[in-house]
Order: sequence, then structure tokens, then C-alpha cells
Amino acid sequence: MKAFVNGKIVTSDKVIDNGVLITQKDRILTVIDCKHERAEIPEQAEIVDAEGFYIAPGFVDIHCHGGGEKYFFQDPERARLHHLRGGTTSVCATLGYTYSHEETLEYAKIIIEACKKKGTNLAGIHFEGPYINPKFGSNSHLTRPINSSEYEELYELAKGYIRQWMISPELEGASEYADFILSKGIALALGHTGASPDTIYEFVDKGASIITHLYDAMGCHLGNESVKITGIIQDTVSDAVLAVGDRVYCEIIADSLAIHVKPANLKLVYRCIGPERTILITDSTIARLDQSGFGKDDIRSAPDLNFNLSGGLSGSKLTMEMAARNFVKYTGATIPEIVKMASENPAKAVGIYDEAGSLEPGKLANIILFDDELKIHKVYLRGNLEVEK
Ligand SMILES: [Zn+2]
Repeated sequence: MKAFVNGKIVTSDKVIDNGVLITQKDRILTVIDCKHERAEIPEQAEIVDAEGFYIAPGFVDIHCHGGGEKYFFQDPERARLHHLRGGTTSVCATLGYTYSHEETLEYAKIIIEACKKKGTNLAGIHFEGPYINPKFGSNSHLTRPINSSEYEELYELAKGYIRQWMISPELEGASEYADFILSKGIALALGHTGASPDTIYEFVDKGASIITHLYDAMGCHLGNESVKITGIIQDTVSDAVLAVGDRVYCEIIADSLAIHVKPANLKLVYRCIGPERTILITDSTIARLDQSGFGKDDIRSAPDLNFNLSGGLSGSKLTMEMAARNFVKYTGATIPEIVKMASENPAKAVGIYDEAGSLEPGKLANIILFDDELKIHKVYLRGNLEVEK
């Protein structure tokens, strides 16, 4: 049993300045606001002095390919620990669209075995594909047409562990594919797409609930040429998403230079999608390009960006801690808003909010301590202190 004292406890609707949070084994037992009730701290409880830091629910990253130089399917232990250090106490391992069917099956098996390990922060699988609109993805030559016997086999293998499944809605066969995913109770995401607004609305009406990295790998059904001809910004996927932003969760990659999402777009997301519907993700991948030789004015020197061998942007090296700080830098979001976007919303979006995403009695004692600059000092996973820095 532990009693966290002397910290600012971030709950889903307020910050308790003078509170006590008590955990028992791997669970949260109670959260006490000492302004309203007297805290009875059981004698056997170990006192954890939070030293004035924030006490918040651990981050939930629902889109993450790996970390610590390894993909989850290569070294799940190393990747999960890398992200735990950044405050992520629940992480969904992403399997992207650049693998053959056989590879996807094999990698999914490895991740499932890792998810079964006791005391892990791995929280399941996120399929980013395998079928995408090849116009909106690097290595697009590796994509293939939607194949129902393939995706049914994938589902059978990974059922119970799939937290999120992304499709490009304009592909042939996408409607049945989406129905299949939704019929299994899995969160359906739309991404890597140039679909028309009507197609986006149709799939949101159907039940799609997540937009995969808004502003990244998405375009316009009319093509770029139409802007040159008319001089008018056309109705892009991101515009359509903003129009239904109160009905979907939108993933955002917030890097330090605002390369993935431009500064004005980050502000627009903060204002229009808002803290209730925005989800911070890392989309962390593994660097292919050696970035050491680039000067500081070259974006390829950025510590939280990844590039492919031809110099193209290819995901990030973010942790959730870094992503949270970057989002604050560009939008001025408050700490409770950040916790909503980095913990609560993602947990709700992928159906693990009964266990994670907020500090409530009965939930896992996944707790992070950070300062005003969003620098993580301690990470507790299932009640155990796992990271101290
Ligand atoms: Zn990704």
C-alpha cells in the first residue's frame, strides 16, 4: 500500500492541490481531496512524497511502432521500457503496412506473447493497415488490395488483443472491411487517405471513431492540381475531419519543430477538435537515416524526427513526455488538458478506460509524477516504482 502526498493530483475534471492518493497492490484505492474530507492514511501505507509535482495517470500511446532502436516485433521488452521512461504506462504496438501477410502474422504473434507477460505496459496491437491508399504512405509499393481472407486470418490470430484498426476508406472493399472490424467491437480508424468528405462522413456515420495522425498522410480527392487551377483550397480530408471533429478522436503527432503538424494547424486542432477529442501519439519508429552529420538548421538534425534513407520524413522518435511538451509549446494547453489528451482520450478511444487513463478507485495504479515543465520524475506501473529520473 502506498499513499502519495504533497502533490497536485490531476483527475479527469480537476486538479486537487492538497490531496492524497492511496494505492493497494496494483490498484488505485482512493483519491482524497483534503479540502473536503480528512485523509485517513492507513498506518501500513508507505508514504510517497510527491515533492509538489503533478500526480497524473500514466500516458497511453495508441500509435507507436517501437522505441530504443527496436520495433516492438523485434524486441518488445526494449521498446516498451523505452516508452515507459517517457511516462507511457499503456502502449499499443503498431504494425504498419510495410509487411507481407506472413510477416504481419508472425510479428503479431510476437507482440501477443509480449502482451501476456505479467506487469507489462504493452496494452495490445494497433493495425495501421495492412492496406492503405499507396499515395499516402512511404514504401507504398508494399501495399496490396484489400483481401478478406487475409484480414479474417489476422483477426483470428490476434483477437482479444487488437485495440485499433486503420483503413483507407476509399479503397475497393473498404466498406465490408470496415463492417467486419466494427462487428468485432474494435475501434475503427481512418487514415493514409485522400477520400472525399462524403466518404469520410459515410465512414464516421458507420462508426469510425479515430482519425490516424490528422494532417499527416492525408490529402484531397481532387488532387493538388485543382488548387493551381482554381486558386482555392479544396475540401481536403483534414477539413472534412474538422467538420465532424466532435464525433471522432484525432491523433496528433506533435514534434518539436511542428513538422508533422504545422504550428497553425496545431492551434486549429486545439481550438476546433479541442482537449476532449484530441489524442497525442508518438508514431515512434526506428531511424533508418544516420542524422548525426546534419547542421542545426537542417530539420534532419531534429532529435525527435525520423527520416528514411532518401531523406523523407518517416515517423518520429518521440516519447509521450516529449509530445506533451511540444503540444504545450505550440498551443498553450494546460496540464489537465494535456493529461486528457495523453491519457484519458486515448484510453477511451481504444476501450481500455475501465483500467487506465485516469486516477479513479479500482483502476490500475499507473501513475506518473512530473513537474511544471512536463518533465517526468517518477513512473509507477501497476503500483510499482519502475522509473526514477
Ligand atoms: Zn504509424
